[in-house]
Amino acid sequence: MGNVIAFNDIVSVADDSFSMSNGLTDVFIDYLLLSGSRLAKTESEKRMVVFLAEKQQTKVGMGNVGFDIVEMPWTSDTFETDKTFVLEMIHHARALSSEKSVWEKMGYEPGQKQLKYSLDSFEALIKRMTINDVDEDNYREWISAAEKDDPINLGFPRCTNHDVLLCLFGCKLCNDS
Ligand SMILES: [Zn+2]
Repeated sequence: MGNVIAFNDIVSVADDSFSMSNGLTDVFIDYLLLSGSRLAKTESEKRMVVFLAEKQQTKVGMGNVGFDIVEMPWTSDTFETDKTFVLEMIHHARALSSEKSVWEKMGYEPGQKQLKYSLDSFEALIKRMTINDVDEDNYREWISAAEKDDPINLGFPRCTNHDVLLCLFGCKLCNDS
């Protein structure tokens, strides 16, 4: 069991895809969600965060939240700024992971070494992404699957307890606590 994050659907043992235990996956998503929710300003940046917020194993099943980098909601128009944003989100997540006040807020202390491994691996995959890899069909598919009452169609509301962006499942941090 566990979750694999890969560049695209072509995964081999020698490539830079990486796998995480189910437990580490939750920590990884929690910190990106916290970081991304603080930093996201534009709609496309918020969409990136909500895409990650949907990776909730309590809702879609343990070991069911792996994804490909190219599946994220990239568009050609905003590609460069969104890529910069995702790299900043990873960077800020690293910083948050060593803050005691954040551990208290989250209710647990993350395993620093494991979290660093997953953030570093994710960063390497994001750095590999170029505008030529953008397939807007993935974006359109994700957007068109969203119901009218999906937070991405309601101006990106936030959890009043955790101040993180909500997704169709609600707040990941509330759901997990
Ligand atoms: Zn919450």
